[in-house]
Amino acid sequence: MFDYTGSFQSAIAALKRERCYRVFADLERKAGQFPYALWNGPGGSRDVVVWCSNDYLGMGQHPKVIEAMCAAARAMGAGAGGTRNISGTNRALVELEAELADLHGKEAALVFTSGYVSNHTGIATIARLLPDCLILSDALNHNSMIEGVRAAGCAKQIWRHNDLEHLEELLSRARADRPKLIVFESVYSMDGDIAPLERICELAERYDAMTYLDEVHAVGMYGPRGAGMAERDGVMGRIDVIEGTLAKAFGTLGGYIAGGTAIVDAVRSHAPGFIFTTALPPAIAAAATAAIVHLKTSGKERAGQRRAVAATKAALREAGLPVMASETHIVPVMVGDPDLCKQASDLLLDRHGIYIQPINYPTVPRGTERLRITPTPAHDLRLIGQLAEAMVSVWHKLDLPLGSDYPERTPQLWNLGARWAATARTQAIPTNRP
Ligand code: PLP
Repeated sequence: MFDYTGSFQSAIAALKRERCYRVFADLERKAGQFPYALWNGPGGSRDVVVWCSNDYLGMGQHPKVIEAMCAAARAMGAGAGGTRNISGTNRALVELEAELADLHGKEAALVFTSGYVSNHTGIATIARLLPDCLILSDALNHNSMIEGVRAAGCAKQIWRHNDLEHLEELLSRARADRPKLIVFESVYSMDGDIAPLERICELAERYDAMTYLDEVHAVGMYGPRGAGMAERDGVMGRIDVIEGTLAKAFGTLGGYIAGGTAIVDAVRSHAPGFIFTTALPPAIAAAATAAIVHLKTSGKERAGQRRAVAATKAALREAGLPVMASETHIVPVMVGDPDLCKQASDLLLDRHGIYIQPINYPTVPRGTERLRITPTPAHDLRLIGQLAEAMVSVWHKLDLPLGSDYPERTPQLWNLGARWAATARTQAIPTNRP
């Protein structure tokens, strides 16, 4: 008899041997008290401060967002009732798509059940609809994009992370009249670096390639209306497809693409990940719309986040902690060892009531395990001071180096990251960054 259970047990044991086994913290967010949450730990429940949430602006608890969700649920019920084709296209979704198209200055937008699904099915469908398409994908793209490229089944080339010379070399080698799709992110969420959007657009125009940009870690937070890095850099009109999530700075759930009518309609009509699945519930769509509408005109949350990020980076650096160079709201602090990273996270939670999840392989390359901190407008100077103190005490306890000049070493990490991403692809290891 085949040992089914044994197969699963040995898969788990392998992860444990590799020190990649993940343990989730059981948290209960407290509406109205962001960034506090209740941690249901071994000794019972207690309050902790969450320092690693992707609800980057706290919009998941904004009164307007909560009210929109409740009102829509009261008016339209809990579920969508079907796929978009079979009675699932509700008014709230139609309004959300109009709001998203307007946000990105595009003709149309299409909503999916997650950012993961939008990348997976969006990239695969767009590439499949272009005859003999060549996909050019950044080496550090998120797993949802890698899987989308894989599902497209067409030729692909990986360009070294943010390396424009390499991208140009690959573009110039391709036949001039061959359809080409450049797939990349604006903000890379583990290092917090930004793609050179304008220069990628120039290359795309020179070599007649289409551009597909993932703005998951930028929408809501960058640009005057929160449309992302492409808005900030003034290149939104030069990007063919912008993909984003409703689950991070917009505080809810779902993903989308925005682009020209023909592209969006083609994806709507051909993408299995859109056609064959139940639509987002109206309450979620209405809540997301409320967050987008609010952030289009309110700069308060963005300004608050910028202040908290600058103060956190300064406080941690001053305390001698190895803060990695990051141009964005993401503040990675290097540990460089999976066990120590987990222990640091455990100590912060147990002894200091601070939750920062450890980021280990395969999310980041081995040897670059880190704590990834995401300050929000709700993290004030008192909390920032407590964080710095707690981290220094944990660093002492674990005998981790303080006072090292980490930013100098970051470019090497990117190369390491590119090598790791290549390995992960060939070995089909999920590079499942959050
Ligand atoms: N794209 C990137 C770059 C991501 O980091 C993530 C998830 O964290 C996704 C897409 C998927 O988005 P979602 O969480 O909405 O599925």
